[in-house]
Amino acid sequence: MRVIFLGPQGVGKGTQAALLGARFGIPALSTGEMLRSEVKRETEIGKKAGALMKRGDLVSDDVMLALIRNRLSESDAQAGFILDGFPRTTAQAEGLEGTLAHLNTRLNAAVLFKAPRDVLMARLSGRRTCPRCGANYNLVTHPPKAPGICDHDGVELIHRADDTPAAINHRLELYERQTAPLAEYYRKRGELREIDGTRPIEAVQQALVEALDSHRPAPSSVVAHRASQGSA
Ligand code: AMP
Repeated sequence: MRVIFLGPQGVGKGTQAALLGARFGIPALSTGEMLRSEVKRETEIGKKAGALMKRGDLVSDDVMLALIRNRLSESDAQAGFILDGFPRTTAQAEGLEGTLAHLNTRLNAAVLFKAPRDVLMARLSGRRTCPRCGANYNLVTHPPKAPGICDHDGVELIHRADDTPAAINHRLELYERQTAPLAEYYRKRGELREIDGTRPIEAVQQALVEALDSHRPAPSSVVAHRASQGSA
């Protein structure tokens, strides 16, 4: 399964990607996480990306495409992957298509998660993140078991530097301008699935699995068997 997740910040892409990845045994690749790791390790990319990220601006398409090209070539991504937060521009979507063609493969689906702006603002201001494993929590809707501590690794949760009201507003505006048009890009290719991201985590996951499943091509043996039985 090769899937990309589209949708505004705070709609739950990261949480859903982690759940779906665990369910299918494929990596959930968040470009935001990759960049935060580059910043922490003070790499050349990290030095360039840090200030842009803090303001909520996008990192350049060239840098992002190079990161993704390298990551998708790694062995754990060969059986499938979920891309969370990439592509964010048309140039990135076109670049991804080229990268996948080069790897002799293609996307199965692009999933668009949707929620109104007031829901996103409330979620992002209450969001707390684990700086080690990247797990996201929400103080109201999805609190950790022990206050302020990651359920998975016991690390103290942080409020991301770009989850301030000014940076949140800026990121949502950029999303509308640069990323939202990608829905049309994938709709035209017949690859778009739309999911209501306002529902509880388990309900969204269920809807996601059903949306992906109902579009999965039947194995040829099943099709042949059905044809021989005269059923659709
Ligand atoms: P996220 O964790 O997905 O909200 O990403 C955090 C920040 O990383 C974004 O606000 C951007 O500054 C940067 N970023 C992540 N993914 C991309 C991308 N595909 N293109 C450009 N910048 C990105």
